[in-house]
Amino acid sequence: MIRLTELKLPLDHADDALRPAIVQRLGIADSELLAFTVFKRSYDARKRFGDMPFIYIVDCEVQDESALLARLEGDRHVGPAPDIRYQPVGQAPAGGLDERPIVVGFGPCGIFAALILAQAGLRPIVLERGKEVRQRTKDTWGLWRKNVLDPTSNVQFGEGGAGTFSDGKLYSQIKDPNHHGRKVLEEFVKAGAPDEILYINKPHIGTFRLTGVVATMREEIKALGGEVRFQERVSDLLIEDEQLSGVVLESGEQLRSRHVVLALGHSSRDTFRMLHARGVFLEAKPFSVGFRIEHPQSLIDNARLGKYAGHPKLGAADYKLVHHASNGRAVYSFCMCPGGTVVAATSEPERVVTNGMSQYSRNERNANAGIVVGITPEQDYPGGPLAGVELQERLESHAYVLGGRNYEAPGQLVGDFIKGTPSTALGEVQPSYKPGVRLGDLAPSLPDFAIAAIREAIPAFAKQIKGFDLHDAVLTGIETRTSSPVRITRGADMQSLNLKGLYPAGEGAGYAGGILSAGVDGIRVAEAVARDMLGLER
Ligand code: FAD
Repeated sequence: MIRLTELKLPLDHADDALRPAIVQRLGIADSELLAFTVFKRSYDARKRFGDMPFIYIVDCEVQDESALLARLEGDRHVGPAPDIRYQPVGQAPAGGLDERPIVVGFGPCGIFAALILAQAGLRPIVLERGKEVRQRTKDTWGLWRKNVLDPTSNVQFGEGGAGTFSDGKLYSQIKDPNHHGRKVLEEFVKAGAPDEILYINKPHIGTFRLTGVVATMREEIKALGGEVRFQERVSDLLIEDEQLSGVVLESGEQLRSRHVVLALGHSSRDTFRMLHARGVFLEAKPFSVGFRIEHPQSLIDNARLGKYAGHPKLGAADYKLVHHASNGRAVYSFCMCPGGTVVAATSEPERVVTNGMSQYSRNERNANAGIVVGITPEQDYPGGPLAGVELQERLESHAYVLGGRNYEAPGQLVGDFIKGTPSTALGEVQPSYKPGVRLGDLAPSLPDFAIAAIREAIPAFAKQIKGFDLHDAVLTGIETRTSSPVRITRGADMQSLNLKGLYPAGEGAGYAGGILSAGVDGIRVAEAVARDMLGLER
């Protein structure tokens, strides 16, 4: 297979224009091109005022590959395609082993850990504290539509994990030498995601499609001999001689296994506390706090795509921004959701947290993103492994009070926020957060340094995105669950530093930040478990 990069075609090219373009670029006859697949398609938004082509990477099967590679030697855009097929680490004997690995949590990390273990014939048992995705969807909408929170089933807890009600962005900047990200995308496609996620630069899948994909993957794991149990919260660990020997469920039931993948997500605060009480090595880690900002999507499209704004092949535009404030703090955009909505993302009573989501079509009126400030244990919450959790709890409880104690979120217009005056009426931007936004002053909701840094950053962002400091744009508070406030530190063998048999994984353990990276981490950890159980070399 030959890989051809930097192949440019106009934005409006016909579907069948790719083949002749490849043939011409490689200098071969049409009959010599046996097959091709698009590996990646991107565009360069910096070209918005000139010609903005699609840029393709294509993998081609040709008649005489060696002759072609020899003829085009020195052409840096033509070379052998790397082998990115997934290589399983091993296979259990038919019927599996006596011991079954346990996977705690069925978010992207737990799903992929369980899938890999099931594919290896190891018949994992998955324990998920929340409910199955269809019921969970109803519970989650209960908070958004009726101000009723179910602490056992919500945006953070339940089948599919935190990313189920999301924009479903499926890209990441992690190092991925073994192409595990490709395995994640391929499994998503097998389970019903559109196959364009395999080649579009910055693919996304949206909420409704993700719920179907997750349910299909659960059935696949079961068909391979796995077991998936919902409403089963792991409340304690069984430990013998510094080796994990099993878990205890809230019901009191004990399950034995010397291999437990802990894929908790960043919101399982009771479980972090249980781990700490059991002496599992944890450390506080940096995370970020801030607000969601909402603009008209058309403002972002115009600023980012110029004359191509609204082009059907480009969809709603996104952005990514960073500002280093004069008080030394970094402010950045987080989890930007084009054409989406701001959502209530608390998992605990009497707390308010925001996040963002969208549907596959991304055709809601507003663009939203977190505008957040990085904070660290050293500078901002010294005092032990759980100090970051406690800070999150304090801020979220205060936001609940500022929002009027009914799960509405505190909000302010951007113009008023920059001037430091409370807002009393909405302007041209209608906030999308449900159950509602209570206007006022956001300054008391976060530490002063964070407010000062965000006040400085928004006008600075307007230099990159014209109109970003629009007076009527809406800030909704608060964003606190940007990543895990703790790390459950593991060694090179992927096991807890001081508890063998415990495999911390994914976002909650501090090893992922997003759907794709959590899936990749789930695969890596499952491979370590499979190697250990099958007695294979690393
Ligand atoms: P989680 O997805 O949090 O899953 C952990 C699971 O463990 C949960 O289902 C929980 O119920 C379960 N659990 C916890 N404790 C226990 C216990 N004691 N016993 C049993 N089960 C337990 N990322 C992106 O890449 N793109 C996006 O567009 C995006 N949008 C987002 C939008 C929203 C609203 C939210 C909340 C997050 C979004 N994210 C997005 C982040 C992404 O969802 C997370 O990074 C990802 O889900 C982390 O995966 P995980 O499997 O490590 O943890």
